[in-house]
Amino acid sequence: MGEGDEVSNKQIIFRDFVTGFPKESDMILSCSKIRLKVGEGSKSVLVKNLYLSCDPYLRGRMNRNPPGHIPSFTPGSPIIGYGVSKIIDSGHPDFKEGDLVWGLTRWEEFSLISETDMLIKIKYTDVPLSYYTGLLGMPGLTAYAGFHEVCSPKKGEYVYVSAASGAVGQLVGQFAKLMGCYVIGSAGSDEKVNLLKNKFGYDEAFNYKEEPNLNEALKRYFPEGIDVYFENVGGPMLDAVLLNMRIKGRIAVCGMISQYNLEKPYGVQNLFCLISKRIRMEGFTVIDYDHLYPQFLELTHQYIKEGKIFYVEDTVEGLEKAPAALIGLFTGSNVGKQVVVVAHE
Ligand code: NAP
Repeated sequence: MGEGDEVSNKQIIFRDFVTGFPKESDMILSCSKIRLKVGEGSKSVLVKNLYLSCDPYLRGRMNRNPPGHIPSFTPGSPIIGYGVSKIIDSGHPDFKEGDLVWGLTRWEEFSLISETDMLIKIKYTDVPLSYYTGLLGMPGLTAYAGFHEVCSPKKGEYVYVSAASGAVGQLVGQFAKLMGCYVIGSAGSDEKVNLLKNKFGYDEAFNYKEEPNLNEALKRYFPEGIDVYFENVGGPMLDAVLLNMRIKGRIAVCGMISQYNLEKPYGVQNLFCLISKRIRMEGFTVIDYDHLYPQFLELTHQYIKEGKIFYVEDTVEGLEKAPAALIGLFTGSNVGKQVVVVAHE
């Protein structure tokens, strides 16, 4: 068969807008046809998708009216998300057949991509390519920029990270240790707590699901208080943290995963602490820090080569497993960065 012929293309289609917790059935496995050739005169690229990233923000795109800056998915179209892909044909002068890229693609075997500005050519291939969905991709930059730019950390400070064993959290803790902070993380299972303490180098860790009173738990783990909180979960955890922050503490609001599926968000009660303790609480999105990617990549790649960063992925094989893997983020079934393998290179 010539490369211009049509081949079948398995896809994960977004069924319709979601309220409440997403279900596997909100995404449908389907099969279409695709021609493995870019059209004459087109500036698009045709890619074979290798690894797809499951990220919590995808839930926001399932809302009819997403609260943030990212538009909703189109019902009946494939899910759009970060991934690692190989160029198999290109009409764009910056990309050629065989290039490896990471960036925004679609949940399908092959994608014709016109938004080539959302693709970054992969520079280092001496690490697993799947790392570009996490450690060397969007979540890694989130951890790096969120910690170094938003938290304004200083050596020796007390740092607390929630959802600490996930894609972002496992890296925040390690960046904080590398700069000499005292770091404690929380996660939702004993297996994850064990990873935090014994692999990611956290000084302490606890299972928040086993703590009936989060305020008391934080008082126990941070008798001197918290200088820096890297917020990934929101809700009652944020309330408990506010009570335990130190004067002039900083809270980087990266995410609030406990709120993404609620129709009525939790009302935070202890915001007065922002005044009494002169706390700076700042939300951020990773896209504001794209310009830091080159320096982040060099540093983190070096850390990997020197064995200074430990990284855990949770991998499922097969595009058809992607919906279950995505919704698993909201029950904590992932241990480390959740990746879907569509094809091995
Ligand atoms: P992740 O931590 O790899 O996976 C999500 C984890 O969240 C789950 O494994 C689970 O871990 C925890 N979780 C789920 N529901 C929860 C709940 N109700 N209460 C407390 N914890 C809950 O995800 P990630 O990719 O690293 O993302 C972490 C956070 O960063 C998310 O809030 C995400 O939206 C945010 N984020 C923000 C940006 C940005 O630009 N601002 C970029 C990337 C990610 P446990 O087992 O520990 O509960």
